Amino acid sequence: MPAQKNTPHCAFCGRSKSETLMLIAGIEAEICDECTLRAYDIVHEELGLSSKQKDFGNFQMPPDLTPKKLKNFLDEYVIGQDEAKKYLSVAVYNHYKRIAQNAQEGEVEIEKSNVLFVGRTGTGKTLMAKTIARYLNVPFAIVDATVFTEAGYVGEDVESILSRLLQVCDYNLEASEKGIVYIDEIDKIARKSDNPSITRDVSGEGVQQALLKMLEGTDVNVPPQGGRKHPEQRLIKVNTRNILFICGGAFDGIEKIIANRMNTRVIGFSKNQKNLEIDRDELLQYVNHADIRRYGLIPELVGRLPVLTYLQPLNKEALKRILVEPKNALIKQYHKLFELEGIELSFSDEAIDFIAQKAMDYKLGARGLRSICEAIMTDAMFELPSQKKKQKQFEVTLEYARQKLSKSKLAKLQAA
Ligand code: ADP
Repeated sequence: MPAQKNTPHCAFCGRSKSETLMLIAGIEAEICDECTLRAYDIVHEELGLSSKQKDFGNFQMPPDLTPKKLKNFLDEYVIGQDEAKKYLSVAVYNHYKRIAQNAQEGEVEIEKSNVLFVGRTGTGKTLMAKTIARYLNVPFAIVDATVFTEAGYVGEDVESILSRLLQVCDYNLEASEKGIVYIDEIDKIARKSDNPSITRDVSGEGVQQALLKMLEGTDVNVPPQGGRKHPEQRLIKVNTRNILFICGGAFDGIEKIIANRMNTRVIGFSKNQKNLEIDRDELLQYVNHADIRRYGLIPELVGRLPVLTYLQPLNKEALKRILVEPKNALIKQYHKLFELEGIELSFSDEAIDFIAQKAMDYKLGARGLRSICEAIMTDAMFELPSQKKKQKQFEVTLEYARQKLSKSKLAKLQAA
């Protein structure tokens, strides 16, 4: 029965205050708790969102957080890369300290510590960013810089970086504004110095310009579903002040720039120059902001990525460790899969060595480990579950690994 007009009642279902748990007052009308929840469900359904928001709620910096704790956590998942881990831990720690300080309106404003990783593909750049986000339980999005172009050209607006972040936390704006974004292949939007002047550099410098404000911290109007913005679209305003941006790239050929810079310093010392030749692969550790600028990132963008660090190429020993040591190491995952079948799986040391060596040969870095393991393990995973009399143990020996891999498509990849 609808309530009297002059007594407080829900303007949607008509129930009076006493019949509801809660009545929320608007300017000219009220709405009850039940209608609010129903409206919430409708909005979610219309927008195609799941009704259960991920638990990113109120981000609180863990009270006992220290850079060392962050690094220890990274150590559980990422092999080697000590220097990058240290830089990242300090940057992330300072970043979230800065957020806490904002809340108290401190006097000295700490600047944002966005991070730039330089390192070959498959060395753990994305993994590190992802692991840190998992530790802090903040929303995390990975985007590829190569899909972005200046407004008006085929491609995506840089604003859609934030659409991804909104999507991973079910459009929880508050959570997304404290999230972490990993921008991969940032080196691919370097200014092309040999670009003829008639063609515009729409996916290079234009995109860098567009990124500037976002990295620094500003209000950005974001298209909720990503892609290009268009006039009739509803936009969500996201403030990027507290979003941590981590950029990564292989910066192929940057060693030459570093070598050039260093050679000019050691000119005349032939002994040192010889050493530099030997260390060519190790040159990355000397990378600095000037090298990144020379590579083609505009100075303003480089300035907004104050924390610069490098990731070492992974050698065979590191690849072997990656196979077995991290918390969710590949070999551990196979053990688990076989255990669920009631089979005890083991790998001989020679087999592990062989897999790591093949990943080196194929020049796939750590990314290759998975495909090599799949090539070796697929037959066993296909056949063992349907065995009539199940065997209790299964050992992957060097012979077995070699034989399975030689029959796979991967064998054709064998590097010259
Ligand atoms: P990229 O440097 O290209 O971003 P990723 O972080 O995506 O490389 O690495 C690809 C995969 O290789 C990861 O998912 C992970 O399994 C493995 N990997 C790469 N580097 C490491 C590392 N240092 N420690 C452990 N695993 C690694």
